Amino acid sequence: MNLTTSLAAIKGVGPKTADQLSLSGLETVKDLIYFLPKRHEDFSTVVNISDISPGKRTIRAKCESITTKNVRRGIKVTTATLNDGTGKLQAVWFNQAYRAAQLKDPTQEFFFSGEFEFNYNKYQLTNPSAEKAEGTQINTDRLLPVYPMIKGLKSQLVRKLLSEIRPLITMLPDTLPAEVTESQKLVSLSDALLGMHFPTAPDEITRARERLAFEELFELLLASRLNKQANMSLKGWSIPFQSSVVQTFVASLPFELTPGQKQAAWDILQDMEKEVPMNRLVQGDVGAGKTVVAALAARQAVSAGYQVALLAPTEILASQHANTIDTLLRPYGINVTFLAGSVKAKHRQPLLEELKSGQAHVIVGTHALFEPAVRFHKLGLVVIDEQHRFGVNQRQKLLEKSARMPHLLAMTATPIPRSLALTVYGELDVSVIRQKPADRLPIITKIWSPVSRKQLYATIDAEISKGRQAYVVCRLIDDNPANEAKSVEAEYRKLMNSVFGHRRLGLLHGRMKPDEKERAMKQFAEHKIDILVSTTVVEVGVDVPNATVMLIEDAEQYGLSQLHQLRGRVGRSSHQSYCYLLTSDTKKPSERLREVERSNDGFYLAEVDLKLRGPGEIYGRAQHGALNLQIASLADTHLIAAAQKEADRFVSSGADLIQYKQLSANVDRYQRLTTLN
Ligand code: ADP
Ligand code: MG
Repeated sequence: MNLTTSLAAIKGVGPKTADQLSLSGLETVKDLIYFLPKRHEDFSTVVNISDISPGKRTIRAKCESITTKNVRRGIKVTTATLNDGTGKLQAVWFNQAYRAAQLKDPTQEFFFSGEFEFNYNKYQLTNPSAEKAEGTQINTDRLLPVYPMIKGLKSQLVRKLLSEIRPLITMLPDTLPAEVTESQKLVSLSDALLGMHFPTAPDEITRARERLAFEELFELLLASRLNKQANMSLKGWSIPFQSSVVQTFVASLPFELTPGQKQAAWDILQDMEKEVPMNRLVQGDVGAGKTVVAALAARQAVSAGYQVALLAPTEILASQHANTIDTLLRPYGINVTFLAGSVKAKHRQPLLEELKSGQAHVIVGTHALFEPAVRFHKLGLVVIDEQHRFGVNQRQKLLEKSARMPHLLAMTATPIPRSLALTVYGELDVSVIRQKPADRLPIITKIWSPVSRKQLYATIDAEISKGRQAYVVCRLIDDNPANEAKSVEAEYRKLMNSVFGHRRLGLLHGRMKPDEKERAMKQFAEHKIDILVSTTVVEVGVDVPNATVMLIEDAEQYGLSQLHQLRGRVGRSSHQSYCYLLTSDTKKPSERLREVERSNDGFYLAEVDLKLRGPGEIYGRAQHGALNLQIASLADTHLIAAAQKEADRFVSSGADLIQYKQLSANVDRYQRLTTLN
């Protein structure tokens, strides 16, 4: 047996069990070894029946008698009397009739581990596991690991298989460099895995967890260190800073740049002068004005003879950016074009020609820009909106489009607490735009209960009478994206046929065709629609300054950061804006929701979210899933700092990663990770 042995080859695993394991994503011995318990239950202390109290208990007793009855259709109840010499108690099992055969010998001693609780008018041991007292115990009399129950997979089965694999675990070679294990005083890999699956004391679990979490963070941080190093060794274009070009651009803006915008612009212009390609993230709360900073960088790059590509995650956002950038840059004779999935083939060809010849200076689009057919004359700058990270693959694709590595500028409105920044984008340089433009009034946020729905609608209607516009964001009926359309359409019709019959309503959801979405957004932007009923597709970056009301249905279902992002769709002009958080029931609103009501600071809300719900929740499952941290918590700042230190030391020591097979495979996976949104 080795790590790649199929689980189907293990003793006692028939085809049915193998199928079930496979359904849970467990194919090989290695999969199972790394299938870690989510918690442990302490059944390690044997108590006397005479002393027993309610709770998770283990006794060592003989079975005096056992009977099974059919109580109701489909339910078999097996009852046994257990005696350990100090007293007797009753054990009961539901639909486990096989216990009668297992426990039939009254002279045999067993361990029983289960919940001692008050059930059906008396105290009983409910559904205990039972094992012969002689030999090794797997499901009783120890710190029992409880495994994630995927597709009905039972912990009992996992424990049994792991006990077969145990000898292999004890012999596993270490995966971390010895210096790292030593200087951090970590337990070895095999001790850590044994500590998770077969702990003999709670302390072993703690040490095991620490070791495995450290390893994950070390891999992640090593990957960003190596990405950073790889980036430093690339040759890029040095784009000289021309102060007259920049000054003219800034002077022509209808507003003054905020100090944060100026600083970010300065950081970027300096980065672009270097031959090492820029790798910078501009982080700024919604409405902080990141687009104009990107436009300034583009202005400089084009003026020096380079082309610029701007990538946005959705078509709506891309086309909006195309318009904004076009308005800002056309006066300088800059040719701004647009490319996305919806652009028809016959328009596509001439566009690709223009890019290749250099006639098109700036191209704005979606991921379509990464397609091989897209070729540039001289690509100098790539701006990526609402994305945090590029992997080596994405970088490679860009390199193929340019003789040298273009400068990269990423922009995000997702505020990431400082403790997280290191892990989530350790390889990027970061500029933060903290202040919002001065002419903005803070958005007034208010929680509403559904009993006041009528009054809420009247409030919104009054705002529309003043010439403003509103968003109504509704949740999916369930998690099935196929029902997305159904749920917004239902709300749209309801509003149209009742309170807002006299207003112009629009509909927007992810299932609409790109050109339909486009049309809806355009109509809203041109004020041909008063109220836009939508799903969270309006979340990222949409800019309609005349919209001053954001109504969010079932607000408690969202993370704080997401609510804050949605709220950021309004408050984009000098008009007073409002965000209404409608709860789904009349219960007192949660403290969490109150925080959104109280604070307009996205960074603060992200911190609160991190504390209350953990990083996975904030940045969405996909993101956390991509990081695929099983054990480490991104909130564990001490361990992150330690892992960072070791990763730095490892890289600067010039050690060869290749000699650590598993480490290098995992690091490689993290290095290839592309987006974390
Ligand atoms: P975000 O950072 O969320 O992407 P945008 O770039 O969409 O924000 O900018 C939001 C709005 O603020 C735009 O209408 C933009 O023209 C305007 N804006 C940007 N900078 C300033 C500023 N310094 N003063 C006033 N308005 C500004
Ligand atoms: Mg934006």
